[in-house]
Amino acid sequence: MTRRAFRYVPFSIVQDATAEPEYEARCVSGADSECGAESGVRHDPAEVEEWQRKHTQESRHVRYRRNFADYAVMEAPAGLPLGLEPPDARVHA
Ligand SMILES: [Zn+2]
Repeated sequence: MTRRAFRYVPFSIVQDATAEPEYEARCVSGADSECGAESGVRHDPAEVEEWQRKHTQESRHVRYRRNFADYAVMEAPAGLPLGLEPPDARVHA
């Protein structure tokens, strides 16, 4: 039996700076059925809070479901020749 050896690479998980995080909220107030009003996707959480305040003021609804999404990238430690870097990130001699 042969054992395959994998080299352990201590990747860092970092937020992808090229993609903006997404925030949104949906009103889930209501006894029988949810209100369902949505803020839409925003890139600033303050805009979602502003939408919530406005919606609550107009409707007296107070319960929301909030979603947050972002992109994450696995980054290898500097100097490790993994061949995973995009071509333009390589150093040309
Ligand atoms: Zn509502």
